[in-house]
Order: sequence, then structure tokens, then C-alpha cells
Amino acid sequence: SSENQDPVKTICPYCGVGCGIEIQQGDEAGDVRFLPWGDAPVNEGRICIKGGAATEVVDHEDRLTDPLIKEDGEFREASWSEALEYVVDELERIRDEHGPDSMGFLASSKVMNEENYLLQKLARRYGTNNVDNCTRMCHASTVWALRTSLGAGAMTNSMRDLRDAADLFWIQGANPGEQHPIANSQYFRQAVLDGATVVQVDPHANKTTRTFGIDDTDRHLHLQLNPGTDIPLLNIVLKTILDYHDENPDEGWIDEEFVEERTEGFEHLRETLEGFDKSAAAAECGVPLEEIERAATKYAAADNAAIFTGMGMSQHACGVDNVQNEINLALITGNLGRPGTGVNPLRGQNNVQGTCDVGAMPNVLPGYQLVDDDAARESVEDVWGFEIPAEPGLTNVELTYEAGDAIRGLYVMGENPVMSEPDANSVAERLADLEFTVVQDIFMTETAEFADVVLPATTWAERGGTVTNTDRRVQRMRGVDKVHENTKHDLEILREIGTRLFDGDAFSFEDPESVFEELRRVCPSYHGMTYDLLGEEGLHWPCYEPGDEGDPFLYEAGFDTENGRGHIEGVDHQPPAETPDDDYPLILTTARLEEHYNTGTMSTRSPTLNRQTPENFVDVHPADADRYGIEDGEYVRLRSRRGEITLEAHVTDDTKEGVVWTTPHFAAASANVLTNHVLDERAKIPEYKAAAAEIEVDIES
Ligand code: SF4
Repeated sequence: SSENQDPVKTICPYCGVGCGIEIQQGDEAGDVRFLPWGDAPVNEGRICIKGGAATEVVDHEDRLTDPLIKEDGEFREASWSEALEYVVDELERIRDEHGPDSMGFLASSKVMNEENYLLQKLARRYGTNNVDNCTRMCHASTVWALRTSLGAGAMTNSMRDLRDAADLFWIQGANPGEQHPIANSQYFRQAVLDGATVVQVDPHANKTTRTFGIDDTDRHLHLQLNPGTDIPLLNIVLKTILDYHDENPDEGWIDEEFVEERTEGFEHLRETLEGFDKSAAAAECGVPLEEIERAATKYAAADNAAIFTGMGMSQHACGVDNVQNEINLALITGNLGRPGTGVNPLRGQNNVQGTCDVGAMPNVLPGYQLVDDDAARESVEDVWGFEIPAEPGLTNVELTYEAGDAIRGLYVMGENPVMSEPDANSVAERLADLEFTVVQDIFMTETAEFADVVLPATTWAERGGTVTNTDRRVQRMRGVDKVHENTKHDLEILREIGTRLFDGDAFSFEDPESVFEELRRVCPSYHGMTYDLLGEEGLHWPCYEPGDEGDPFLYEAGFDTENGRGHIEGVDHQPPAETPDDDYPLILTTARLEEHYNTGTMSTRSPTLNRQTPENFVDVHPADADRYGIEDGEYVRLRSRRGEITLEAHVTDDTKEGVVWTTPHFAAASANVLTNHVLDERAKIPEYKAAAAEIEVDIES
């Protein structure tokens, strides 16, 4: 019992906005009270429905309380020493029998920087770069395009400068009204109240459309395009700007000086768009050409125009090219390197940015230093005291698709690939083929059901560390008492495994701060941060030396590319891998809801959130509903080549004719049973946003 403890300041565990909240230990362990943190740096006390409900899952009856070992297909309780020894024995056996590259490690964007840092270090000490996290599923393509063409795989600007300086928000495939509620209500809405214009490009009308009244006014625009036609739409915008500039160079739609001094590849873009047929492209997009031209005019004429990019852009087999085309638009108009501009991915989970920053990816070490760059690798080896494999490892989806073949074992920390990966039925089949799986989590997830060992971890509210939000602000989290005595913090679990598995002291850390101290030594953009300097405000990276203030916006003087120039490259339309045909005549697209979170592990266990939306549904356009004889509220079967789910139909013109829209949150009817696992060749992100589907009234219900 721990009566009257002072509240502690921490960060909301859900989305990447990074809202500060306070939590207070009540009379008993598990009695955790939520309190607003009035002067929290990002949100100044405001929170959305998820943040307010976040404490509800801390003491949930489904919590895992003791280690579990599977015997004859059933889980039984085990002591920590038995469970840990089993894990260590199996890791050693797999390495001896099949080599280190036959293990895969999944880090977690819900887990703190220190813990992810330790997991990727564990994988590399084991001898493999097969470590990844679910950023692969959300923004791998964005990170790829931004890193190669500008320098850093992160928001170029910050919420504050966007609020103060942007005159136009170009929001493509993102839905901040729903996915980043406080960023939207506190920052972007303020800018709009102060006069900024919004252009939303999205196949589905949503809360962002409604927040800004986009449908009602001449000022804003919603371009409701067909899924997978973002490249032709942006090519119309680019072509419109190029042609207008050729006729009216004095109006400065193209920033010639910026293009000349700070970019490369402009001619390639011109050549790509030579002879480009805008009318045919507009027909492909399903949007009137004049509307797209009007949007182009608004962007080009704005003093400061900012692009927001989300998973509607990144989750395509052409995800890298989608984002490259946004970069093209920003570069030719000189909308980079100033407040209120840029190309800004709104990141998903509360620490998805940090999980990548600390190197939990198969091709990079902490600070995005490439594993196949000898000098970078050696500098990290000097600190770690062991050799790091030089070959990049396998990505998230590649790991599960190799399960049972090249991959024999999986170490999963806080991820749920059985629900989060596309073509979920086949992921489940493959996981069943693994020789050994260990899952470290707070609940018995759909993935943990496949494990040989389940290690019970603590929740976000019970421990401390740091997380990095969507605008690169690193902030401290602080915990209250542990709810279940026999659970362990992720850091402790990794330390136990690391010290049992390897000689030496590479894993013998006292606490999160001592891990952070090592992280600083190997991650240049975090080098200037300490727990003390982070304080209550946090710091934006890059922060190279103690005392650096961090950069709210990037690239003021130059880009972080090899020659310092921003890279322009024209791209052509690539339709989704699956397009409608006679058997599957509809396009299925997916997205998330404000009240729920990813695979629903936490949010569907929260009474407040579940009351809002208790089960999955599919949006069907009224014309399609008519054709199929579907009534609003009726249950329907939604099928793709990979599976089927039964769920309620919502008849609404939020979606386009021919397009059905659903969510991945609910295990009973998850969109990912249907989605396509085809990958972007470079970034290896799956095409969640477009698959061919068919629908029918469910006669059994
Ligand atoms: Fe949490 Fe995001 Fe809501 Fe803020 S906006 S309270 S970080 S879910």
C-alpha cells in the first residue's frame, strides 16, 4: 500500500503526439489515478479520449501475472528462473543448430527508448541484424524517402512552428483529426482559425474533414481520390505548377533560386512530366481536374505551405515513390527549411520515432548509422565491445514470412504480428511452424497464444524511461508502483536474458538512465541529452552536445544528404498490386479510429473506449449498398482472396462508390485477414491500403 504519493509526470502511451499527463498512485497497487498536467510542453493539460482512458488498462483483469511455459499445447505457470533458462537454452540451441540469422527479434513502438535500445543490442550481440519494429508497417516508406532525399526520416518541422507559420496544410493520406487529436485541435486548428487553408487528399471523409468544415466552404478542399492514385494526383499538381510557372515566372510558384542552389534532379521531374496527360490522370484519380488544379494553385500561392503525410501514402507497394512526390512538391516550391513548411509524417505510436532512432531496425544502428557502413559500425563496436554483423537483416514482414523456413525462432517484445501484419491467417499458420517463440507482453495477445514462453511485463504506468514523439521531442516517462509483484519491467527482462546469454557486462545496467547514458554515446543526435537536461520540457533531436537546444525545424542551411542537396526525382503511376476484377469488384481500404489503437490490445480492453465503438464495421457507399441490397446496420461478409470477416455495414457517402473501408482493431473481424502482403520493394512496407474485395449480405446473422 502506498497512500498519498505525489503525482508523477509521464507521457500518454497511445499516439505519437506525446501529450504529458500525470498519474498518481492510489491506496493500493493498481489503483492509478489520471490527472491533467496543466503545463505539459506539448498539450498544456488537454488530452483526447484515449489519453484520458489510458489508466483503465493498468489494472485490467486480463493482465499477465506470472511467466508461462507451454506444455502439450497448454500454458502452465513457471518461475522466472525456469522461464528465463528455457529462453536462454533455446536461443543457444537455435544459434548452434541453425546460426544466429535464424532468429528474429521484434522490438516495440509501445516500449521506451532504453528497452528498444537493449533489445536491438541483444539481437546484434546474438549475431544478427534481424531486428525490426512496427514502423515497418506504418512509415518505413516515408522514412526511406525522407532519409534518402532530405537526410532524416522524421518530421521536418514541429507542431509549434506549423501552428504559428503555416498558411496552407496539405494533408494527404493522414487523418490528424482522428489519429493525432491533440496535434489537430491544439495546433493545426489554431492555424486554421488564424486563416490557414486545408487541402485534404483522402479516399474517405473523416473527422479531419469535419473538424475543418472542408466540405462546406470554398476556402478548403477535400480531394476524394480513388485508393492508390496519389502519384497521378500529385503529378497533376506538379504539372500544373510547372506549366503555370513557364508562363508566369514572376509569380514565383517555383522557387528558382532554391531549386538552383539547394536541390538536384529538377530536370528529371520535368522530363517525367513531359507529355503527361492531366485529364486522363484525373479520370484515374476519380477527381475533377479543375478541383486538383485549384488545390495546386492554393499550395503554390501560399507563403508557407506544409505537407502532412500519413499511412494513406506510405502503406502502398509504391509507398516510397508516393512520399518522394510530396518531397518533389515541397522542393520545387521552396517549402522546406523554414517554419510552417516541410514534409511531415505524423507518427503513429507514442514511441515509434524513438524505436527507430535507437536502432531497432535491420539496416541501421542507433542514430540511423548504416550497419553496412564500416566506419559507423566500428564506432559503435568500440563502445559495445563486440563485433556487429555487417549485413542488414530481415524486416518485420520478411521475418514472419520466413517463419518455419529460414527463421526458426522469434523473440517478440510487445508486438502482435498475428493481427498487425497483412494476410493474418497465413501469418498465424507460419508462426505455428516456428521451433521456438518467446513473447514478452502485458496481455495474452493473439501472438502470445503461439508462444512457447510468455514473459509478463509491466505497463507504461509502472516504469520510467524516455519516449520520442512525432516532432522528435524526447520526453521522460515516470512510473507508479507495480501492480503485480511477479511481473518485470522490459528492461529487467532483457538484462536478465542478456547477462545469462553472454559473458561480460554488456547488459548489466542498473536502471533506464544508465542505458540512456550508453545510448547517448552511440547515437549522435541524442548525444547532447541527459535525463537532467531533458527535465520536464524534453528536447528535440538533433541535439549533438549538452546545451544544444535541439532543432524545431530541420534543413535551414542545407540538407543532410551527401552533397547537401535535396533530391528531386519524377515518379510514374503504379496501380495497386490488386485491382478490382469480376470476382472481387470492390477496392478495400483500411484505416484506424480515434477511439481505438492498432491491434486493440489495450484499447479494446478499455471500457470507455469500447463503449464508443465496441466492434468492427465496414463503410459502404449508398450506391453500392443499393446494388448489393445492403441495409444500414445489417451484417455483411467481406471477402478477399485471403480470407473473410463478418461485420456490420455502415451505409455512408464518407466512402467513394466502389470503395469499402474498414479497420484492423478488432480480433473478431480484423481487416488484416483480408489485406494484401505485397511489399514496397525498397522499404518492405505492405500494401494495407488497397486490395480487391467482394461483399455480400450475411444470411446467417
Ligand atoms: Fe494520447 Fe495522442 Fe490523445 Fe495526446 S493525442 S492524449 S498522445 S492519444
